[in-house]
Order: sequence, then C-alpha cells, then structure tokens
Amino acid sequence: MKYYSLNKQSPVVDFAAATILGQAPDKGLYFPENIPQVSKELIINIESYSNEAIALEVIAPYIGDAIPKDVLEKIVSETVNFEIPLVKITDDIFSLELFHGPTLAFKDIGARFMSRCLGYFATHSASLRDSKEKVVVLVATSGDTGGAVANGFYDVEGVEVVILYPSGKVSSVQEKQLTTLGKNIHALEVDGTFDECQQMVKAVFADVELNQKIKLTSANSINVARWLPQQFYYFYLWKQWKEKDNPPVVTVPSGNFGNICAGLLAQQSGLPIKYFIAACNANDTVPDFLRTGNYLSKKAVPTISNAMDVGDPSNFIRIMEIFHQQIDGLKKTLNGYTISDDETKATLVSVFKEHNYLLDPHGAVAYTALQQYQAQNPDTKGVILETAHPVKFYDVIEPLINQTVPVPETVANQIKKEKVSTKISANTNELKEFLLRQ
Ligand SMILES: *Cc1c(COP(=O)(O)O)cnc(C)c1O
Repeated sequence: MKYYSLNKQSPVVDFAAATILGQAPDKGLYFPENIPQVSKELIINIESYSNEAIALEVIAPYIGDAIPKDVLEKIVSETVNFEIPLVKITDDIFSLELFHGPTLAFKDIGARFMSRCLGYFATHSASLRDSKEKVVVLVATSGDTGGAVANGFYDVEGVEVVILYPSGKVSSVQEKQLTTLGKNIHALEVDGTFDECQQMVKAVFADVELNQKIKLTSANSINVARWLPQQFYYFYLWKQWKEKDNPPVVTVPSGNFGNICAGLLAQQSGLPIKYFIAACNANDTVPDFLRTGNYLSKKAVPTISNAMDVGDPSNFIRIMEIFHQQIDGLKKTLNGYTISDDETKATLVSVFKEHNYLLDPHGAVAYTALQQYQAQNPDTKGVILETAHPVKFYDVIEPLINQTVPVPETVANQIKKEKVSTKISANTNELKEFLLRQ
C-alpha cells in the first residue's frame, strides 16, 4: 500500500515512511491510495473469527510488506488483548465499551498499535537503524492522549517519548497516567495552557536545525498508524451484533474525527453499518458544515466532554477524501448533532437512574444524539461508542449522581505511585534545550 499526501505536493510513501513521518513534508495528511475490501466470508462468518484474526485481515493490506507477517501478528495480538464488549442499555441502544484498555480510553488501541509499529521500524527500517539515532515521539496532551501514548510506548526499544502537559489543567488520574512510568517516558509539566503546549510542539517540528540533530515524530491521530487500527472495533461490534439483517446506526462522540473516520473507512471496506452519527458538544464545526455546506473552523470552547473540545478537526479532510470531496455522498451516510452540556448532564443522570448504566460525559453526548435521531427514525437500532471509563471524569459525574465512581484496580495502583515530571515554562527554547540534553 502506498500513501499520498492530501496536499498533493509530496511523493507517495509506504506504511513505514508514513508512520515515521507522521505528517507529509507538505504538511498534508497521508491517505491510502485505495480502500481494500474485506472478504465476504469475514462479514458472513465473523462470529467464528478471533479478534486477532479479524484485526489481521483488516490491517494487512494497509501494511503491505512494511512489516513481516509474524511481527504484524504479534503487534495485532498485543493491541487487542483486552475486552471490547457490546453492552445492552435498552432494547434499541447498545454501548460498545472501548475503555477496558490500560488507560481506560479508546486511544489505547491506536497508541498500542502505533508504538509497536514504530518500535519495529526503529530497529529494522534501514533509514532509522543505520543512523543509530533514537526516535523521539513528541506529543502535547490535554488529557487522554498523554496517558495512552505513555503506556503504549513504555519500554519500546529505540524510542524516547516526551509528553507536554499544562500544569494543573489535567485531571489527577490523567496526570498520574503520564508521570509515573519512568524509563523512556518523560513528562514535561508546562507552566501554561494546552494551546501553548501545542504551539511549542509545532514550533519544534518546524525547527530545521533541531530536526537535523534529532529524529522527531508525532503520535497524534493524524498518524496513519494510530488512525487505521481504530477500524478493528467496528468489526468487533458487527461480530457481537445479533440482528444481522438490520445493521446498526453507529454514534461516535467526535472531536478530531479520527475515530469516526476509521468507522467510515471500515464501512467502505464492506462492513455493514446503516448510518453514522457524529455526536458533538458545543464545538460543532462539522454538524454546522453538514447543515450549511460551509466549513468554518471555530475557536474551541471548553465543555464537560473536554476530549472533544476541538474547533478545527484535523481528520475531517480524510472523511471528505473517502467521499471523493462530495458532500452529497457523505450526507447519505453521516449526520451531525450538537449537544449542550445541560443535555449531556440530564442524559447521564437519566440513563443511570432508569437503566443503571453509568455513561461518561463523551458517551452521554453520543447517547443524547442517538435518542434525537431515533425520535425521527423509529425502528432503528443504534450503538454508541463509549470512548472512556466514567472514572476518568469523576469530578464531573459524582456531584450529578451523588455517588462515588468505583476506581478500577489498575488505576488505583497508579494513583498511589509517585509523580515525576520536569517543570518548564511555556517557552520553545526551554523545550529545545531539554530535547538536546536527551
Ligand atoms: C479523544 C477522545 C474523543 C474524540 O475522538 P476523535 O477521534 O478525536 O474524534 C472522544 N472521547 C474521548 C474520551 C476521547 O479521549
């Protein structure tokens, strides 16, 4: 498989180069030259396949010969070695729980896959191996990405990880997830905002001199190695779906639109999904676009579903490419909904009281959107993607339900560990100095 840049000004590359570069030199996102079809046999007999076998069939054409088959098998099995159950909430609404991985958010799947691919390339790809340089993964986080990347890359040979996070602005669980691992994971506690962290990262990527000394790459969802494996769990949904003659409407809480873009790709590859709903909070650039046909990026506003506080979603351009840049085709399979914080809170409380199911704020946005869709489209059955465990947002949830959220054992152990971070000010030179010292 070859990947081209959506800005069309850079040469095509294979999976290895696309993963190592993250973004094309012309600043475009990489996109596969064709969308491979899965076998009919997989769709019809999916219940008889293991999760590893499904993942392997889906991802193999995207990898081509960049990774040998036995290595890819190992990478895939380490990526999906936790449960992804489909749980019934009502007769018409189900939850696909993506939060049973080590850091309790769906980002574990993409981060685990990408880290292992990059680890393989660091020791086997000619360009990296012979230079004997370590690859440095640099990432800014407002919360969930940092933990998933730290955990995914922990102890991966040949790769150092530097995570910038805004001091005092991530939840205590999130902070422990990225500051307690040690080894090749370095946490930089920035005296500033998330936007400043992101600007520092961008400035360092644009620094030609520094990039001659250090092999830098990014681990956010623009990287194909994080985006593509997110298709796996849409197939796991189908594996667990009982009414095969009535495919599900799938509702995805969306921020940067990497997750839903992977679902649309899976659908184009032959997976039966009736319809997609992009559920957004007040940051509703895409629902607005689907209503008006005009794409206007906005400045992000803070909400209680903060992982979706994105005003200019970077993966949306990939969705347009799947539909050959035609909004009419897109609208046949996707609609967007805007859900307020008040609606989100009301849903969280009512679903807990009536169905004894505790949503996290992101899942509650999706649930509300699906209810609104089903009010107009009775006789449909839908699934929400539950993207994070509610305990990650206990500070929002506990006052709403007047109860404590039980802490899973993995997190309880992590909270007890000592935080280790390096404090720096929101200054690009300080970041450069830190990187050169490594
Ligand atoms: C990152 C994240 C999202 C948004 O996913 P995108 O792929 O950026 O659309 C939704 N929910 C949670 C909990 C997240 O961490």
